[in-house]
Amino acid sequence: MGIKKTMVVKYKVIKRSKQMFRLSKRSIKRLEGVDPQLVACVHRAIQVTKIDFGVTEGLRSVRRQKQLFDSGASKTMSSKHLEGRAVDLVAYIGARVSWELNLYDDIADGMKLAASETGLSIRWGAAWNVLDLGDYIGTSEEAMNYYIDTRRKQGRRPFIDAPHFELMES
Ligand SMILES: [Zn+2]
Repeated sequence: MGIKKTMVVKYKVIKRSKQMFRLSKRSIKRLEGVDPQLVACVHRAIQVTKIDFGVTEGLRSVRRQKQLFDSGASKTMSSKHLEGRAVDLVAYIGARVSWELNLYDDIADGMKLAASETGLSIRWGAAWNVLDLGDYIGTSEEAMNYYIDTRRKQGRRPFIDAPHFELMES
């Protein structure tokens, strides 16, 4: 009896030590005004992601979009952020934001899994020509490489906006 009890306790400890991230209050606040389906997808993604992330932007004002467009940070004035149909997610290593691209395809894999579970069509800002990331056969990294290869074959430079995820029309 005593032995059995110990085994149960040990199992619980192992399960609990599994990596699990949570959205900060600030991240949750930044999801206000975002399409509920996309919000749910982000909440699911934080549960399954290998890399911690935070939300930097969701719903965006026209004024802010104009600033980003003028600075070249955005390529469009009809961004899905204006409709609350896009989010920007940044990678965290501990408490610090990291811009290392290889962290972002891990975050994208979290979003990919979350989207495929719910049948949500999302597009990633590092694989613009993959119109449904959740449905893409392969990893997010492969999706990005496919996008980059396609652009290069067209003689065009890829535009990588790795924090960006947007909801497609369904
Ligand atoms: Zn964005």
